[in-house]
Amino acid sequence: MAIPGVAIRGQRSLLRQIREALAGGGPAQARLDMVVRIIARSMVAEVCSLYMRRAAGEMELFATEGLDPAAVHVTRMKQGEGLVGEIMKLGRPLNLADAPEHPAFSYRPETGEDPYHAFLGVPLLRGGRAIGVLVVQNRTARVYTDDEVEDLQIVAMVLAEMVAGGELLVGGDLKGVEIAPHRPERLKGAKFGDGLAYGVAVLHERPVAPSQLLSDDVPAEETRLSTAIATLQAQIDQMLEGNAGLVDTSFEVLDTYRMFAHDRGWNRSLVDAVRNGLTAEAAVERVRSEHRARLGQARDPYLRERLHDLEDLNDRLLRHLSGEGHTARELPENAILIARNLGPADLLEYDRTKLRGLLLEEGSAASHAAIVARALDIPCVGRLLGLRDRVSEGDAVIVDAESGEAYLRPRPDVVKSIQARIEVRAQRQAEFAKLRDTPAFTRDGAKITLLMNAGLDVDLDIMGETGAEGIGLFRTEFQFMVAEEMPRFNAQTALYGRVMDAAGGLPVTFRTLDLGGDKVLPYMEAEREDNPALGWRAIRMGLDRPALLRLQLRALVAAANGRELRIMFPLVATVDEFRAARALVDIEVAWAERRGRKAPSRLAVGAMIEAPSLIWHLDALLPLTDFVSIGTNDLMQYMFAADRGNPRMADRYDPLCPPALRALEAIQRACAETGTPVSVCGEMAGRPLEAFALVALGFDRLSMPPAGIGPVKQMVLSCDREAARRGVSALLKGGAGSVRHEIETLARKISLAV
Ligand code: PEP
Ligand code: MG
Repeated sequence: MAIPGVAIRGQRSLLRQIREALAGGGPAQARLDMVVRIIARSMVAEVCSLYMRRAAGEMELFATEGLDPAAVHVTRMKQGEGLVGEIMKLGRPLNLADAPEHPAFSYRPETGEDPYHAFLGVPLLRGGRAIGVLVVQNRTARVYTDDEVEDLQIVAMVLAEMVAGGELLVGGDLKGVEIAPHRPERLKGAKFGDGLAYGVAVLHERPVAPSQLLSDDVPAEETRLSTAIATLQAQIDQMLEGNAGLVDTSFEVLDTYRMFAHDRGWNRSLVDAVRNGLTAEAAVERVRSEHRARLGQARDPYLRERLHDLEDLNDRLLRHLSGEGHTARELPENAILIARNLGPADLLEYDRTKLRGLLLEEGSAASHAAIVARALDIPCVGRLLGLRDRVSEGDAVIVDAESGEAYLRPRPDVVKSIQARIEVRAQRQAEFAKLRDTPAFTRDGAKITLLMNAGLDVDLDIMGETGAEGIGLFRTEFQFMVAEEMPRFNAQTALYGRVMDAAGGLPVTFRTLDLGGDKVLPYMEAEREDNPALGWRAIRMGLDRPALLRLQLRALVAAANGRELRIMFPLVATVDEFRAARALVDIEVAWAERRGRKAPSRLAVGAMIEAPSLIWHLDALLPLTDFVSIGTNDLMQYMFAADRGNPRMADRYDPLCPPALRALEAIQRACAETGTPVSVCGEMAGRPLEAFALVALGFDRLSMPPAGIGPVKQMVLSCDREAARRGVSALLKGGAGSVRHEIETLARKISLAV
């Protein structure tokens, strides 16, 4: 067949020819041979060879024009061997005037490649992984132009997508090529939400389908791309203008976006790719894969961060191209969602009834996605490095959020064991459900009130199922965190009203906005701080910006509409702060009354004890409060000077140690002496062993994530409080560090279900 020797520039027809050759009938090998011939002619190269990665990790010559055909499927290179191995390793092109001079060059006599000097090889990238290498060679030493490199990369991308799309490698020799990882893998990450799940991978960010790779109308595609880029740039500029004068982290992020969005190199690569016949979406993917391959290996955290920015930018651009946000996706039963990270509302867009688990490449336990996953009781593991490049849509996956691991394409024995564990969990859940209406009394008759922590509408649905006796902590800032813009008075009032309705007369304690620190809102002004956890956050912000806090208090009073209202303030560090905050509540109640609105039937105002300073000023604080609640997450962070969000600190200090337990005991005693109701609402209250220690210290109100209520209740029912008290108080005296082990032994001794 005569193939016109077109120059590679403006090579839409080349891509078409490749596609036709690949899509045509006949044996796969013949089609591949045709493809390399077409490329060689178009690029005026004497050699064009395609190497693919075998499952064992070796690179194998799959087709060649110009080298000895007898070497096809014979020449193989180990990982990292030769120039081809080098390209695989680096994930980027190698453009050499004189290949044999290169230190990695490995001579293969069977190929007959002796006379060729000029060498250009590019990886076939899928996601950030190289699945093959495409090489052109010329006799005469020369460096290929940037345009030629770009063109070969585009060809390689189309080939990669087609190979991966199954259009090519079916049967025979071509089996066993590693297009996508297929071996079982186990990735270690971090626990974001408890539980176990086994299901089918659904990719949140789906690669462009091979059928959408090539455009039919280049000028129209170019217009589509430039419109999308212009919209994206305008949107980012606007976001920046809206925040003019800000010097904070979100500003920096936006500013970096802006730099990238206007980056001529990025824009040009996209336009070039479209001019060469790709669709705008495919162009985005092509440029993205290259960045991933290049920056993904970077050790420098700064560069890796930049990759994240670029990823975000690419996602945004794809959204602009699709002209809309996500449309609701049809999920398989047992879907496990795989994503780099999720925005606040993303998870809620999926069908809850089919979503079994969530795996994230990044994120932190305090991230929005993790918070929502916990609220929905979806097992979630995060910080799984390399996740997205290792899993394909439809792969079987296990989320083990008990150990913080993910199993990709697990072996049957692993599946069996996980299914057995899922079964055991389900049985335990069923037992907890049976206890739903049983009041939580210890064996020696002490009543323990078990409350639930909440923060989103979705939490309300499960309130009834848990048997919680109320909401001990409603984190009002969640509504702000999942919103695109500041929730107004009506939206706030509506949510608080719904929460009280859902509680159906059971008490709800609203915690006023706990923003700042790591909870920065994109639409809210915040200054960059060196130590955000110690900075301008929570009640400090509320008191300095009383308009915001008063609006919230007004919404709370309006929502109560004559019902009981319980409000508490986060991170109070001095008695004066509490006094000032409480005064604002009084002002708002008076304001409502002046307008003839109903004042709360009963008003209870409390402080969260999260700053250690208060422990030594309880005598002054408690008479001013109606109740207090201990936020152990923050209290421990400040007591041990250990960032609660830093995974390196996560297991360093155990709250089950004498200093922590003594501090808690001191608070409990002071409250008992003054008759001030006290609860514990940090995460530790939801873990049976920790809850056991709290009950032993005399606490009788515990507020926890919904999933904790069943296990904690089971513990309470089997607990002899007096024996626990004696045992734990003995442990408070000595000890060097954690007394977890001792408390465990004690719990076992008094036959406790923990
Ligand atoms: C705490 O600090 O323990 C607490 C309950 O508040 P948050 O986790 O929302 O900071
Ligand atoms: Mg807190």
